[in-house]
Amino acid sequence: MKKKCLFFYEEDQGNYVKDLLEVARQMYGENFESYALVINPLDVNVISGFDYLLAVKDQRLKDYDLINITSLMAECQQVYQFDAVIVLATQLGRMLSPRLAMRLHVGLVADITAIKSHPDGTIEMIRPAFEGKLLAGIINDGDGPTMMSVRPGVFLDQQSTAKIPEVLACQLQTIEDTGMRRISQIRKPDSRDIRESRVLVAGGGGVLKDFDQLDQLAQALGGMTAASRRIVDSNKADRTIQVGQSGKTVHPELYIALGIYGALQHVAGLNKVKHLIAVNTNIKAPICSLADIVVEGDAAEFVRKLTTRINENKQAE
Ligand SMILES: Cc1cc2nc3c(=O)[nH]c(=O)nc-3n(C[C@H](O)[C@H](O)[C@H](O)COP(=O)(O)OP(=O)(O)OC[C@H]3O[C@@H](n4cnc5c(N)ncnc54)[C@H](O)[C@@H]3O)c2cc1C
Repeated sequence: MKKKCLFFYEEDQGNYVKDLLEVARQMYGENFESYALVINPLDVNVISGFDYLLAVKDQRLKDYDLINITSLMAECQQVYQFDAVIVLATQLGRMLSPRLAMRLHVGLVADITAIKSHPDGTIEMIRPAFEGKLLAGIINDGDGPTMMSVRPGVFLDQQSTAKIPEVLACQLQTIEDTGMRRISQIRKPDSRDIRESRVLVAGGGGVLKDFDQLDQLAQALGGMTAASRRIVDSNKADRTIQVGQSGKTVHPELYIALGIYGALQHVAGLNKVKHLIAVNTNIKAPICSLADIVVEGDAAEFVRKLTTRINENKQAE
């Protein structure tokens, strides 16, 4: 019999939620049915890739209404008896998943970064532990669904299909008045996400003073600027562009690491990078052993020279 997997679908994180199909594949091969639960969707027709869509339309359910969303998912679990519940570790997902795990009386493995499926059917969920110094493999041998939250951008939907899901009606029996009201909603002006960029120009402690210059190189290459935590902690950049264990996991085609040492917690965000160039004054820094090309020298000088060269070439074209 096919395994049943429930995914919590956040519309503004759509592609990342779709990537979670890969988690199910790594657990069950092709032997699973995917159910995506979405609340008050703007347009169900744009959601694809899943077998079924549990579309809940109820204006009493508000964004971030964790109390009622938890009840809703628990009711779905009762009806469909899912084998796995997979939630994206977004702000909402991180708040929702422990509540739901408590309600279902199951263990939760939070923030997983890899999956191993053993020949005897055991599923091992892998997550960084002890501040990222080691990776813990966790097996759920209790009753109830295997439940996990997954870092966005770590898994990539390898066999993306435009499968149109069958829409199933879904409703919460009783909706509690939680007293939650949305007072206002403010959108950030730049909603671009470093996880979407094909080229990332990333700076670390070695370019602390010159971090602002990285934007010009990123622009010349048609990419975006990213940062190590050292830069973010020094208030030179916003946390939204931090790469690593407590930042984002990125998968660009090209990652230029400028003055970045390559601490485990930084490298944890780089597992799907295609090509890496490291510029560092110390070629023994761990980032250099991961790089396709290592440039020994001052990173700020490298940025200035490369930006000038690219812009000159563009003008000559
Ligand atoms: C729980 C926890 C979570 C963490 N999460 C993250 C995370 O998500 N992301 C993250 O990045 N870190 C994270 N860290 C911090 C991490 O351990 C490192 O401290 C941090 O990554 C170091 O940043 P860095 O490599 O930019 O700076 P540094 O360690 O200061 O390294 C600077 C590098 O630049 C080189 N350099 C110096 N001068 C120059 C120059 N002029 N030109 C070229 N190279 C030069 C040096 O040789 C060195 O290799 C976390 C730590 C903890 C404990």
